[in-house]
Amino acid sequence: MHVLLCEDDEMIASGITAGLAAQGVTVDAVASARETRTILRTASFDVLVLDLGLPDGDGLSLLRELRQQGWTLPVLILTARDTVSDRVAGLQAGADDYLLKPFDLRELCARLHCLVRRVSGRCVNLIEHGSLNVDPTSREAWLHGSSVDLSRREQALLLALLQAKGRILGAEQLKDSIYGFNDEVESNALNVHIHHLRRKLGSGIVETVRGLGYRLGPAQSRRP
Ligand code: CA
Repeated sequence: MHVLLCEDDEMIASGITAGLAAQGVTVDAVASARETRTILRTASFDVLVLDLGLPDGDGLSLLRELRQQGWTLPVLILTARDTVSDRVAGLQAGADDYLLKPFDLRELCARLHCLVRRVSGRCVNLIEHGSLNVDPTSREAWLHGSSVDLSRREQALLLALLQAKGRILGAEQLKDSIYGFNDEVESNALNVHIHHLRRKLGSGIVETVRGLGYRLGPAQSRRP
């Protein structure tokens, strides 16, 4: 899961970034409405966590603007404004969820997973693909019932492919889902992660579509 965090309080932003990273979530943090507009055009995200009091405007106006422009990514508002009318205003502006400060990082993490899951249309937590099962919250995977040890990047790559449900994803899109904006990415890093996924889960798990990118391979129900 790749989260865009828009929060101008540095302490809160670094706490969220570190806390979510520890749960295997990639976070890019920006601190203004202007930066949010810019980064949304340059990378793809699964969910936006939005603070309402921003130095260059109100988070609600930004949210309304994004929705009017057709942005559909799920948005969780993070705020200290706690009246019912504040919450209603947030939901009417196009927010999908609302979390009050101060909050517990575990709750934030659980809600983000829930939002992404809702958007991808799954109602149970476990993603099944033939005899492969993946729990996106605990980052565990099982093949034919046996636990498979995946690194954080491999897990993120696998989830991106599973969530795309067979759609072709370009190399840049895949890199966006496994790396943050400031991460150093070696030129062959994606190939290395794909190689490891194929070694651990079978060569058919990732299909290369020449010239276009990659997609999830067909589900395998039996042991090869
Ligand atoms: Ca603020």
